[in-house]
Amino acid sequence: MIRTKGRACTGKRRHDTREKAEEHCDRLIARGAVRLAAYPCRNRTCGGWHVGHLPKPRT
Ligand SMILES: [Zn+2]
Repeated sequence: MIRTKGRACTGKRRHDTREKAEEHCDRLIARGAVRLAAYPCRNRTCGGWHVGHLPKPRT
């Protein structure tokens, strides 16, 4: 069993493709979540896409 330490992954929905991730993202935004974005996972063992909050832009 492989243990992934990446906290980026655990507890998040994984999507196989960018399209699916963006679809999920759109749905969340429609429900009132803001500043969400689909991004490719950093974790190589995951290789999927996730939806998460955008970092705050520095002003
Ligand atoms: Zn992942």
